[in-house]
Amino acid sequence: MNPRHAALAALAAASATMLPTLGSAAAEAPVAPDPAVAATMARIRDAAMGSDWSWQRLEELTDRIGPRLSGSPQQAAAIAQVAAAMRALGAEVQLQPARVTHWVRGDEHAELTDYPGRPQGVTQALHLTALGGSSATATGGLNARVIVVHDFDELQARSSEVRGNIVLFEARFEQRLADNGEASTAYLQAGQYRFIGPSTAAALGAAAALVRSVGGADYRLPHTGATVWKDKQAPIPAAALAAEDADLITRLAAQGPVSMKLLLSARTLPDVDSANVIADWPGSERPDEYVVISGHLDSWDLATGATDDGVGVMAAAGVIQVLQQLNVHARRTIRFIGWTNEENGGGGHKAYFDSVKQHIGTQIAAIESDEGAGRSLGVAASVTPGSLATLQPVLAALGPIGASALERRDGALGADIEPLQGAGVPGFSPLLDTRHYFDYHHTAADTLDKVDPQNLKSQVATMAVLAYYLAQLPEPLARVAAP
Ligand SMILES: [Zn+2]
Repeated sequence: MNPRHAALAALAAASATMLPTLGSAAAEAPVAPDPAVAATMARIRDAAMGSDWSWQRLEELTDRIGPRLSGSPQQAAAIAQVAAAMRALGAEVQLQPARVTHWVRGDEHAELTDYPGRPQGVTQALHLTALGGSSATATGGLNARVIVVHDFDELQARSSEVRGNIVLFEARFEQRLADNGEASTAYLQAGQYRFIGPSTAAALGAAAALVRSVGGADYRLPHTGATVWKDKQAPIPAAALAAEDADLITRLAAQGPVSMKLLLSARTLPDVDSANVIADWPGSERPDEYVVISGHLDSWDLATGATDDGVGVMAAAGVIQVLQQLNVHARRTIRFIGWTNEENGGGGHKAYFDSVKQHIGTQIAAIESDEGAGRSLGVAASVTPGSLATLQPVLAALGPIGASALERRDGALGADIEPLQGAGVPGFSPLLDTRHYFDYHHTAADTLDKVDPQNLKSQVATMAVLAYYLAQLPEPLARVAAP
């Protein structure tokens, strides 16, 4: 999830509405499913739950290629691998050019060099990782005092202490929210300090900025992610501390001045050429109308990006495999997109939107899975209230696998489909169990073992049934007013 998406997710969370699902008293009479369509959806669901294809592609992506940060050779290899897999299914494949960010991490070290009660000769090494967009410190590192603040108001109140020092934003990820279906809210609340904290500190003259890692597990893992600078603002060194190390500094700083040596050698290089992978499964009646199914092919560099977003992009690719296996073509074209550069720039979705915005009416719906590897509980939909009854047959088809919840949301359901949604295209994502998504999100532990193959299948089934149904509707769903 990128910063802009997270900001919109907050808006969405504020207006999220749980709606009655099948069998309860919906405001509108449920649409009776066309028997042939209902039978096909059942076959699609069962084929998805019985297929290992997405898991095998995910294993190849993570074990053979690994981390896929934009501009890296691994990202280019992932694009080639997925394009080849889609060609092998018989889909119509194109690589859509996109210019993308090229940031490289370099070295990263930090230690506490002075604090109240420090025994002579003692320093303490810290676990931290640079944020995407960070600049480098001087070659020999930066020595400065650490100013601990808990929020932006406290930063402003202590602004006279900031110049030349290192600001630490100490804001907690509220796991209790995540435990109760509000992981996006927890991410946004703590994440705002990662997204715009360094920029705000830089504007006050800070020499560097640190954030408490945005995540829910306590394994002393730093969580990376992009930070955003204002136009023409010079970046400063910026990093995320493991939560335990942020706690340590906060305890010591309550007793007196704390000083740190920080060394980062991160750099932003010139943008490079990359591509979205687009694979069309042609429609039988209206091939020039598209239902998009998608996930992002890039990942952070600390791990293999199995849950962010290997699982999402391979679940979306698996929709095409299921349709191929069953030899099913809906009325409209079902278009897989493996997005490039979701994590730190958005070059992929900008290129796609630029290519379709003059004929946006051809984009019937857009689906993205980018909320981790949890089990699918149903469908999140940014649609008009009047469209909800039309969607009921999808939930009926997914009932046997327990994915029968429908949650209507206002706002973006994925960073990459956000521009399409902003132009009125109905947006969807699988409604996932996100309790543990932020345990490993953007850390060195985002690896294949965190993915349950059954959960992945539930995501394929959800997206495949939904995409087929939307592509088969006699009339498209109503367009959505821009949020
Ligand atoms: Zn992601």
